[in-house]
Amino acid sequence: MILENNRYLLGGGVDPLVLAEQYDCPLYVYDSAIMEKQYKRMVNAFNVKSLKINYACKALSNINILKLFKSYGAGLDTVSIQEVKLGLKAGFAPQDIIYTPNCVSIDEIEEALNLGVRINIDNISILEQFGDLDANVPVCIRVNPHIMAGGNNKISVGHIDSKFGISIHQMPLVHRVLDATGLKVEGVHMHTGSDILDPEVFLAGAEILLNIATEFKELEFIDFGSGFKVPYKEGDIATDLEELGIRLSERFNKFCEEYGKDLTLMFEPGKFLVSESGYFLARVNVVKQTTSTVFAGIDSGLNHLIRPMLYNAYHKITNISRPTGKNRIYTVVGYICETDTFGINRRMNEIQEGDILCIHNAGAYCYSMASNYNSRFRPAEVLVHQGQAHLIRRRETMDDLLKTQVMAELFEPEATI
Ligand SMILES: *Cc1c(COP(=O)(O)O)cnc(C)c1O
Repeated sequence: MILENNRYLLGGGVDPLVLAEQYDCPLYVYDSAIMEKQYKRMVNAFNVKSLKINYACKALSNINILKLFKSYGAGLDTVSIQEVKLGLKAGFAPQDIIYTPNCVSIDEIEEALNLGVRINIDNISILEQFGDLDANVPVCIRVNPHIMAGGNNKISVGHIDSKFGISIHQMPLVHRVLDATGLKVEGVHMHTGSDILDPEVFLAGAEILLNIATEFKELEFIDFGSGFKVPYKEGDIATDLEELGIRLSERFNKFCEEYGKDLTLMFEPGKFLVSESGYFLARVNVVKQTTSTVFAGIDSGLNHLIRPMLYNAYHKITNISRPTGKNRIYTVVGYICETDTFGINRRMNEIQEGDILCIHNAGAYCYSMASNYNSRFRPAEVLVHQGQAHLIRRRETMDDLLKTQVMAELFEPEATI
């Protein structure tokens, strides 16, 4: 979003205030130009013979976004059978979908197997059971390299006590299961968690994975997962993707030479591709002055965007209605009946009731984590693409809230006590 002649504008000159008027608030808006730019950055950062970027669709799972990434040539990273089905519906070929479940039933994995997608196995018991299902389908092995990465213990998944992946110390057992079942391994994978601050940490994990990769003789790909950090505010450190690209490509090419085959280098970014493309627009219902604080209360809450409350995440907030207003300090809160804070003591252009606030970095893990808590409708979603706004999900209605509820007719015609 840029500020031009005292107006904030999205890609192609689309005015977010016009969208707020047209589609009403609260509203999620995504700018495809930013997704494209981020995808191209990934593709350009790595200099290898074969590269595959699988979009981790749990970050933002609207089917139009899946189709957008497919049009760029991406594959798809999925973590549930429902995401697999969404990907197939979006038109991805089964072989372009990788399914990385954790703690799901063998029945669900069998369903994915029957749909023909690539399967990433993250525990030995499932590996054994998979071998019994079909030993002719090659699998990918998710390895836990036991390194601590990530900005928050809820999203760091590669450490020693994490529930994810097969421990590097259990590789002898993996080989025994492979020998016993006849299963082939086509890929090795790691995903250490979100918010990698330091390419060194990533490269250290990569070294461990490459070391394990030498034990498998029939590999097609090595998947380094994700965890790329994006800036949420000015001055934030983000993953230096370009530096990582140079160093990892060099290491990977050397590995392929020693291995004797050009393997595919894979990544599965979610946040990196979509976070900065998203804007959440909400209207200020009330400005409330207490003894110590000025609150701006908006027509949304943790039901629509939970990251600040769940992860203590910082999301930049802008008053897009009043770009030239003088700066004051506000605490921005939602309308949910419990502590529901989007930002504390934020310096922003003066707010009046009715103004539209924009919450930035609303592309990843925002709509996809939204709920109907307090029986509120989930918002609409709009995609700005090549200068045009397209509604890609309508706002919910009372019918949507009631659609899955069953009237049990227990209390009719009139309950008597
Ligand atoms: C969540 C997840 C990702 C995406 O992580 P980001 O931090 O959004 O890039 C990738 N791979 C797996 C297995 C995941 O669970």
